[in-house]
Amino acid sequence: MVRGLLNKLVSRSLSVAGKWQHHQLRRLNIHEYQGAELMSKHGVNVPRGVAVSSVEEVRKAIKDYFPNENELVVKSQILAGGRGLGTFKSGLQGGVHIVKTDQVEDLAGKMLGQILVTKQTGPQGKIVSKVYLCEKLSLVNEMYFAITLDRTSAGPIIIACSKGGTSIEDLAEKFPDMIIKVPVDVFEGITDEDAAKVVDGLAPKVADRNKSIEQVKNLYKLFVDCDCTLLEINPIAETADNQLVAADAKLNFDDNAAYRQKEIFALRDTTQEDPREVTAAKADLNYIGLDGEIGCMVNGAGLAMATMDIIKLHGGTPANFLDVGGNASEGQVIEAFKILTADDKVKAILVNIFGGIMKCDVIASGIVNAAKEVALKVPVIVRLEGTNVDQGKRILKESGMALITAEDLDDAAQKAVKAAYK
Ligand code: GDP
Ligand code: MN
Repeated sequence: MVRGLLNKLVSRSLSVAGKWQHHQLRRLNIHEYQGAELMSKHGVNVPRGVAVSSVEEVRKAIKDYFPNENELVVKSQILAGGRGLGTFKSGLQGGVHIVKTDQVEDLAGKMLGQILVTKQTGPQGKIVSKVYLCEKLSLVNEMYFAITLDRTSAGPIIIACSKGGTSIEDLAEKFPDMIIKVPVDVFEGITDEDAAKVVDGLAPKVADRNKSIEQVKNLYKLFVDCDCTLLEINPIAETADNQLVAADAKLNFDDNAAYRQKEIFALRDTTQEDPREVTAAKADLNYIGLDGEIGCMVNGAGLAMATMDIIKLHGGTPANFLDVGGNASEGQVIEAFKILTADDKVKAILVNIFGGIMKCDVIASGIVNAAKEVALKVPVIVRLEGTNVDQGKRILKESGMALITAEDLDDAAQKAVKAAYK
């Protein structure tokens, strides 16, 4: 029984962790053009490129950077992968195009300000505010390269595949034996042997072996020096002039390193994130947006997950995960309430507080004060228990607010589902 519950919590927290990653809450994600610049600074070969945000800038960029190029690669910049195979809401196919230089302006005009939907963006897509113009290299061969953190070896692991370009999930399914993994001892750093193993896994056809080994070492050094949690290059390619080149760049960084990676963290582009999560992060709330109808305000991650489970059990869908924490201030509770009520999809709000360190009266005044500031359009179901519960209940009662009170979690979830889907 306990194990069953634990498994449930663990699997739920994993899916929540996945969601976090998806929304770049705990991991900074930067644009390809920024990643390419960072790689270049660390001695990694990248195509020459320049990012632009308007058609006027395109004209100037071509004149300044690519006066003699016949063709250019035009790449939509969004914080999600799968752009090549994505579709714009306008109907335009593909977020990455190779076109004649005289058509770049027209194409960039069709990408800028438009919404690109890919396998990774979700149906709402992401806005393209910049396009990255790159020299078109003649790629002889496309491969896959990544460095990430591995639990088993408790350190960085390099993943390489001699086939690349398409999504790694598809590669892993089609060519499982071609994917090689080289764990690196983080204390010793990358050895020549490690790097050579990776190059053998990439199996370049024309690229110089020693120079490729150097490239792998530079990539590893970048990963460590910049506190990356992920460095993925798909494709890493080889050119006719025997070079290994990073033709794409996906870099994520550990949020815990923000204090010592100020330059990198200044690159954060919040316009690409879920606005609800941006607001929540500013108020220091643990919030993850989901697509259901019942807004949840809970204290404690475990209780928050249990609340989501019980809502599900009674046939509802949570609109979010929200842990206001053990010592939330009234101001944070107000912020939390504002985020929940600003979400049009939310049809009922379930407040489930178990007052331990957090006190029920603080939550109660937070709710009352929030209700004064924001118009409450949806029913609010409250379950309070624990420290100062009587004071809390009195505050709610005396406020004159129309609240639905619940006796326990089960009762609260049932009432919330009933109120939301009536
Ligand atoms: P993603 O779909 O978001 O991963 O975007 P990519 O940056 O990987 O671009 C999609 C595809 O465009 C790549 O898989 C390559 O096949 C192709 N591509 C990207 N850059 C170049 C380039 O410089 N030259 C050529 N020939 N193809 C490129
Ligand atoms: Mn790619």
